[in-house]
Amino acid sequence: MSDLRINSDRLWDSLMELAKIGATPKGGVKRLTLTDLDKQGRDLVTGWARDAGLSITVDQIGNVFMRRDGEDNTLPPIMTGSHIDTQPTGGKFDGNYGVLAGLEVVRTLNDKGIKTRAPIEVAFWTNEEGSRFVPVMMGSGVFCGAFTLEHAYAAKDTEGKTVGEELERIGYKGDEVPGQHPIGAYFETHIEQGPVLEDADKVIGVVPAVMGLSWYDCTVTGMEAHAGPTPMHLRKDAMQVAAQIIPEVVAIANRYPPYGRGTVGMMQVFPNSRNVIPGEVKFSIDLRNVNDELLNKMHEDMLAFIDKTSAETGLPVKIERVSYYPPCPFHPDCVGAVRKATDKLGYSTMDVVSGAGHDAIYAARVAPAGMIFVPCKDGISHNEIEDAKKEHLEAGCNVLLHAMLERAGVV
Ligand SMILES: [Zn+2]
Repeated sequence: MSDLRINSDRLWDSLMELAKIGATPKGGVKRLTLTDLDKQGRDLVTGWARDAGLSITVDQIGNVFMRRDGEDNTLPPIMTGSHIDTQPTGGKFDGNYGVLAGLEVVRTLNDKGIKTRAPIEVAFWTNEEGSRFVPVMMGSGVFCGAFTLEHAYAAKDTEGKTVGEELERIGYKGDEVPGQHPIGAYFETHIEQGPVLEDADKVIGVVPAVMGLSWYDCTVTGMEAHAGPTPMHLRKDAMQVAAQIIPEVVAIANRYPPYGRGTVGMMQVFPNSRNVIPGEVKFSIDLRNVNDELLNKMHEDMLAFIDKTSAETGLPVKIERVSYYPPCPFHPDCVGAVRKATDKLGYSTMDVVSGAGHDAIYAARVAPAGMIFVPCKDGISHNEIEDAKKEHLEAGCNVLLHAMLERAGVV
């Protein structure tokens, strides 16, 4: 069993075949969720699954589960999956790799006539990207109860079409109640979408956790006045106070290494005129870290600094938390299975904490879960130039195969 390997040509060819649906002139893919192209992609993948002897279940939010029976079908399935919808300027690998790696695992087991104790399932989740409809990670979010089916159905695109209507239209509104589908363990392979593996020249990223994030809107209120006649000591300059807070965002991130992140990415200055002292400055703050305790400390530091700055300058500073996603540690059994498979197969490896969201985060709320990362070129994704090496995709799929076999058991 330790000699068992997937067929990397077949995996690559399937990826290239699926990428033809919605292919863009620059070599990327535009296959937005619940469009005609998404239907074509879904039909192609489920067709391949039927050819591989899998049975298919679709739930009411359009999540698709493709099942290979095990010896004991009362056991919950060992599942893998991801998404096949893309960004408007998406690539061939984001999401698609996770689904087709799962299919390749099944095809390999079929080739070798290997029977597992628990069933194996390959899933693709509806609207992971959140580009046409919000919220993101919609299918897996409904599945784990993060929000309701009704809330998801009512989401509208820019043309006013709803998720409910579009699911119906493309024929992927199934019968199964979301969440009424047992999962024994969940694995997701994905391109890293960051530069860490490539930079360190490693092939497999073992993912212990996904970072949590805290988003804030911060508003400093001053008073507009003429930039010439108003002496320096009589000003209420909102920009100068914002300019004290912004470097502190970075300082806070640096105080909680190695995973502390602090970003100010958006700023509005009122009235935004070169000879007016700014009366109001609004900006965003994005704080991230890998566990709740550290993220909370960053939050407390931020509030304390803002209080102090406001008191010292006499200008009101309002800070409001607008979003919070808790950090998601993956299950030690699944992380361990990935680590063990990677070591057994002899690939170079390191731990990589995910800074991006994935369906595995929601799967982790209802089952033990883990992820496998492979490098992507220059760490770039959500871009038509997204690229990955065939041998890296092969390695990730081999790790998936062996991790799943360990959890499913071989008869
Ligand atoms: Zn993805």
